[in-house]
Amino acid sequence: MDLSEIPVTRLSGVGPKLAEKLLRLQISSVQDVLFHLPLRYQDRTREFDIGDLVVGTEAVCSGVIVSANIVYRGRRSLICTIADHSGEMTLRFFHFNRQQHNKLQEGARVRCFGEVRRGSQGAEMVHPEVQFIGGANTVAPVVAETLTPVYPVTEGLHQLSMRKITAGALEYLRKVSPLELLPIHHQGSISLTEALLTVHRPAPDVPVEALLEGSHPAIQRLALEELVAHRLSVQRVRHSGAQQQSPVIPGVDSSLYRQLITSLPFSLTNAQQRVIDEIAADLTTPQPMLRLIQGDVGSGKTIVAAAAAALAVGAGYQVAVMAPTEILAEQHLLSFRECFEPIGVSVGWLTGKLGARQRRESLESMRTGTMQIAVGTHALFQADVEFADLGLTIVDEQHRFGVDQRLALRGKGSHGDTVPHQLTMTATPIPRTLSMTAYADLDCSIIDELPPGRQQINTVAIPTTRRREVIERVGSAIEEGRQVYWVCTLIEESEVLQASAAEDAMQELSEHLPGVSIGLVHGRMKGVEKEQAMAEFKARDTCLLVATTVIEVGVDVPNASLIIIENAERLGLSQLHQLRGRVGRGAVDSTCVLMFEGGLSQRSRDRIAIMRETTDGFAIAERDLELRGAGELLGTRQTGAMNFRIADLLRDKKLLETAKHLADRIRSEQPECIDQLITRWMGEDAPEYGNV
Ligand code: ADP
Ligand code: MG
Repeated sequence: MDLSEIPVTRLSGVGPKLAEKLLRLQISSVQDVLFHLPLRYQDRTREFDIGDLVVGTEAVCSGVIVSANIVYRGRRSLICTIADHSGEMTLRFFHFNRQQHNKLQEGARVRCFGEVRRGSQGAEMVHPEVQFIGGANTVAPVVAETLTPVYPVTEGLHQLSMRKITAGALEYLRKVSPLELLPIHHQGSISLTEALLTVHRPAPDVPVEALLEGSHPAIQRLALEELVAHRLSVQRVRHSGAQQQSPVIPGVDSSLYRQLITSLPFSLTNAQQRVIDEIAADLTTPQPMLRLIQGDVGSGKTIVAAAAAALAVGAGYQVAVMAPTEILAEQHLLSFRECFEPIGVSVGWLTGKLGARQRRESLESMRTGTMQIAVGTHALFQADVEFADLGLTIVDEQHRFGVDQRLALRGKGSHGDTVPHQLTMTATPIPRTLSMTAYADLDCSIIDELPPGRQQINTVAIPTTRRREVIERVGSAIEEGRQVYWVCTLIEESEVLQASAAEDAMQELSEHLPGVSIGLVHGRMKGVEKEQAMAEFKARDTCLLVATTVIEVGVDVPNASLIIIENAERLGLSQLHQLRGRVGRGAVDSTCVLMFEGGLSQRSRDRIAIMRETTDGFAIAERDLELRGAGELLGTRQTGAMNFRIADLLRDKKLLETAKHLADRIRSEQPECIDQLITRWMGEDAPEYGNV
């Protein structure tokens, strides 16, 4: 009997209506119910004496009703007092009907469950759950035998029903247990059945803290399985591409590649050369390349991408270069033109904001193949875009695209079973433990060396109260011929608010710095306007650029040597690090001023200290992971790509190696379990190639 094939409607009390509600929680089978795990627990296993209740906890106690009256002080409410041998407690109801009032008869015995608060007359519960347990002489029914789970629910689905449903599912689990899919039988590991029973109905002596923190073996067992499932799902995607082929592209002997490298005004760093070699090796096989380059801000990823492009174009294929924003696409367009036009390669572009005529022209030359390198935003991969012969796709700042988008990209530019090679680049280095999971479908290359002659960036933290001083500093840097970034940050996602904050800052700065030409870039501006503002800054027509975090990545202005970041306490370390990387690209010493609001918490202080201590993006990422968790760090929280139900990459770091090992074993020894595991944990959300 496979629990994933038994519909919830087989559980007692679950009819079509309830089944529909459960579906909203992605629960359709008995197995789904079992994997719908509690958020927290209530302890109803013992009854407290009223005198022993602790304010702030949820507890069960019982007593005899001493009085029940409606009072009109402030808000109409029903106040009931109960007493046991140790003291009295007030029950307060704001919503009640006459029937409820009538039931609260003096002398009746009730058991209550609720959060204990400090009321004016001592302990108090507001809207407790009340159970009548008969007259003083009846034996009270037992309190709960296990801790009471509190589940995530949806509108119209109550905790009580959820508890009944899970109880029913647990009955099934006790009867049939071939639920085990992991090949683990080593000591100390508990069975899946045991883990699920514990998590859904913990015995009174189970340490709840350990369950909630996830250190309990039951949670660890589930987390391990989830990590295995995640890994398998990511790899299934990769594997499904294995029947597909990509063009075979000869390596670094290619003359176009040679021309590109010799035309550079510098020589490649060892790290750049190593990564280019890794890419070149991938390209010479028909197996589709899926490689991620991680390289700190300024590590020179662009030229590595250009080298890869040269290899593909040299072999007669087209290349698509995609960035997540217009402004970055524009920047790449400039860089690629600079690299390729002198050696006779045509670089064109396509974004959502092109005019109709230009767009038609671009589409035409992509289709016929006269555009050898196409740079753009995701507009590059809309349905009506056709390439003559796309051999390589380069995606910059890949972490901004979710896994799904990354997968969708793979389908593009394919003819039959032929897909382009794919190279992705990210300037947000992530810790290895994390990349092992997040990017299990990719091969990783790391550029861990900066080009020589980089200036050290001096990082200082200054409270907003000294804003005037900072503005003066901006003024004098500009007088010395330097250029300055002023970055406004808001925690709100709203581009409207962000834009208005930037406009306000610009207003303020222009009042204090008369005669200074100031540019403005924010997400509400049109592509052309942003392009214009960036171009003016790059050309030194403006000396001060006020911007929102849209300038976060990719912008290269070597003469800029000072960056001010407002409300630095609101940004993640990796983001600060990237912003800081806007300066220090030229010959002069650069400074990054982190402005912060008011009194700093210890946490903020620590963060600033880290920023001052190191400029190593990997080290910063490691700390960021500790401070903010994986979702924030990867920037995929919204896309849900790394949403684990139970596993926590930081907490469960120790499980990652085991998960990897188990996933490998399952793939070779019991491949029939792969789909079952994935469905169990990821259900309909599992990414599937060709289905995104
Ligand atoms: P990122 O990795 O942040 O995208 P870029 O590719 O924009 O970095 O490179 C940053 C700057 O470093 C550019 O101005 C680029 O021309 C320069 N650069 C790249 N590689 C080298 C190198 N090997 N030697 C000197 N300068 C380099
Ligand atoms: Mg870049």
